[in-house]
Amino acid sequence: MFYKMSATEVLKDLNSSKEGLDEKQVEENEKRYGKNQLAEEKKQGLLKVFLTQFKDLLVVILIAAAVISIFTGDLESTLVILGVIVLNAILGTVQHFKAEKSLNSLKKLASPLAKVIRCGKRRGIEAANIVVGDILVLEAGDVVPADGRIVECYSMQVNESSLTGEAESINKISEKISGDKTLADQDNMVFSGTQVTYGRGMAVVTSVGMNTELGKIAQLMNETKERKTPLQISLDAFGKKLSLIIMIICACILGLCIYRGMTVLDSLMFAVALAVAAIPEALSSIVTISLALGTSKMAKENAIMKNLKAVESLGCVSIICSDKTGTLTKNRMTVKNTYLADNGELSTNRLLLAAILCNDSSVTEGKVLGDPTETALIEYYMNTRKDYKQVLSAYPRLSELPFDSDRKLMSTLHNIDDTTVMMTKGAVDAMLHKSRFVYSNGAERAITEEDINQAQDQNHEYSKRGLRVLAFAQKNIEKQDINLNDEDNFTFIGLIAMQDPPREESKEAVSNCLTAGIMPVMITGDHKVTASAIAEEIGILRSGQRAITGMELDEISDERLDKEISEIAVYARVTPAHKIRIVDAWQNKGNIVAMTGDGVNDAPALKKADIGIAMGITGTDVSKDAASMILTDDNFATIVKSVANGRNIYTNIKNSIKFLLSGNTSGILAVVYTSLMALPIPFMAVHLLFINLITDSLPAIAISMEKPKADLLKEPPRRSDEPILTRRYLLEIGIQGVLIAAFTLAAYYQGLPIGAETASTMAFATLCFARLWHGFNSRGRQSIFKLGFLSNVYSLGAFALGTSLLFAVLTINPLQSLFQVTELSGNNIAYIVACAVAPTILIQGSRVIKELFKK
Ligand code: ATP
Repeated sequence: MFYKMSATEVLKDLNSSKEGLDEKQVEENEKRYGKNQLAEEKKQGLLKVFLTQFKDLLVVILIAAAVISIFTGDLESTLVILGVIVLNAILGTVQHFKAEKSLNSLKKLASPLAKVIRCGKRRGIEAANIVVGDILVLEAGDVVPADGRIVECYSMQVNESSLTGEAESINKISEKISGDKTLADQDNMVFSGTQVTYGRGMAVVTSVGMNTELGKIAQLMNETKERKTPLQISLDAFGKKLSLIIMIICACILGLCIYRGMTVLDSLMFAVALAVAAIPEALSSIVTISLALGTSKMAKENAIMKNLKAVESLGCVSIICSDKTGTLTKNRMTVKNTYLADNGELSTNRLLLAAILCNDSSVTEGKVLGDPTETALIEYYMNTRKDYKQVLSAYPRLSELPFDSDRKLMSTLHNIDDTTVMMTKGAVDAMLHKSRFVYSNGAERAITEEDINQAQDQNHEYSKRGLRVLAFAQKNIEKQDINLNDEDNFTFIGLIAMQDPPREESKEAVSNCLTAGIMPVMITGDHKVTASAIAEEIGILRSGQRAITGMELDEISDERLDKEISEIAVYARVTPAHKIRIVDAWQNKGNIVAMTGDGVNDAPALKKADIGIAMGITGTDVSKDAASMILTDDNFATIVKSVANGRNIYTNIKNSIKFLLSGNTSGILAVVYTSLMALPIPFMAVHLLFINLITDSLPAIAISMEKPKADLLKEPPRRSDEPILTRRYLLEIGIQGVLIAAFTLAAYYQGLPIGAETASTMAFATLCFARLWHGFNSRGRQSIFKLGFLSNVYSLGAFALGTSLLFAVLTINPLQSLFQVTELSGNNIAYIVACAVAPTILIQGSRVIKELFKK
């Protein structure tokens, strides 16, 4: 029972110290207590995955076809079909493991590093590598990576709702507790999976992996299962309906064939093959492939998608609410100006002293590490004075109240020249009205109206230049400890103004947003004037729009907000609670909202937004947990790029599906026509299988690799409730299907006088080749001249490979008999080529004419 022991006893018991373990101990403890990993759900083995591929309706139909062809004595067809089944299963298996691998690597990218102390040095390691005895460094925003006993605690609060269900954060302590306590009352312990919401502390790890309290709750582990995306669900439903219709058509064809005198087995075989060729079984897997390819591309471009569902909504985003600091700006601060409430050398000294004492950043090996607002202060000090280290050790910190974005202040307590002094820094408006005195060259005097006005004017002047202003104050304290009630009656010292220039790419990204029909909104904790200056510079704040503060927002009723929200481009001095209201208001107007956040308190707003975006560099674990997307470069421009990618993925999926459905339609139409006209069947079963496997899949995958086009961001966002299969879309599929079917039949008629076999060979070759060409039409709505012949090499590859395979089947002897084709004359081959290219020429021609007219 570690909570009943003192911190020193626990450290001794675990053979550790506040300096942490050394490498040898780490190795030993890992061997002894195991790795910090939860036992994962049993992964499906290769064989099992392979076998599940045979559960598909399609494969069942194929197996039926193979059995039938044994009975018809057509052993070659049986072999081909079995070959197709096995190939299909292998492809499915490979796809499964590839998708799993890419999802796993994404998960790894998304999981944060844990901070530990080893050999006296602080370092970031993967949570899985934490061992018992490690010293954890915990700060507001961290997710606790293992169970531990707290050895140091500075106002640390932890939210343990994931374990105990208790929503309120718990004040933690480092002292020992006596008596038996339940989990919820073990206040000197931290537990894996809980969230540090305030303050900081250190803990020695007492248990890892499955031995943690989290590990004991088994059901929590299965939470992360990927579910199907809305698009997949609606396509599955559509596919089922379509399959039913196709089955009915096939049944009719079967009846007709038998009626026309074909043997029952041959008719059956044909009907089955037709079903295989016409059922668009690839619909759902095209979505998976496109999403998987798309997300791994996005990860390379600094946006990690945590779930596939978000990718779909990404294309519909119409509002992007972004933080300012670090996302729109560089978060590289430099001090530009200082202002003293009362002049004098002692006043200057005091301002600089407050700047480095009330500061959580540190200097290691000459480098200043920490929050840029604070590192700027230290850098400024070190540029002018050499005694940073001495001063810091002369006035150690006795107690502290960490910064949070609700009160916008931070305080620390120090002994300075025999008095205990609280040093406070924070937002000017949060501090000035709580000041009663002014620091006047070593002494104090009462603050006057004029002092306040002057400071405010100065603040205004700095802010107008886009500078970020911090106010500094001090207060003598009688105790050795401070709490939030002490933060008033300050002695105001002065202001420090720093510059944080906008990122170069922000301006262009904002203008891209606007052309794409997306409204960029700045939400910041910074001052209204500073925020407006920067928003104006990068184009977020335009004429007819305004900036409001969180306080002003509180005054506005819901009805008025609903009316005016599209005029408000900047929200300044907001607290995280305001963010939820803003998201809500936009969503009520039917918008899909993306919202960035980095702090612990941002988590609810990130969850509420359609796309919650966490910052990979400066974001807390808690915000990353709540978000559906993580920016590894914290950059606004990356959000806009991702929206373009999201739109592109959706368009590609739509185009792939259009390709598949129009091709299938053409096959079915040709068969239905010949059946109705009492002509010999146009395709052998093996033909349809060949088309299904080769001409279907290759171009469809190539289409899903299509790169984003320049005009993707010129259209307004798609409505999230817009169905994928609109009337216009289905009409296009129908027209393209009819075109290809007509030319396939033309080739069929050309061969018919020579014999049924030649007719069928010609129909097969034309349909197959025409669909390969059709792959180019399906790359987009525009003509190939606009799309560019070489802009998608995969589609060229798919065409070349498909054409070679078709050529091999038509010309190489053993394949000829396997695929039941006859030798063709040069004339007829030319006829096939002409018929196969014709639909594409017509489709492209009509597009070229349309494009010319548009000009
Ligand atoms: P954004 O919300 O766009 O990231 P921000 O970083 O300015 O902007 P907050 O971090 O909430 O938002 O800061 C709000 C205000 O609090 C700042 O304008 C500044 O005046 C003050 N502030 C920021 N960081 C500190 C700090 N470390 N200590 C004290 N005050 C701070």
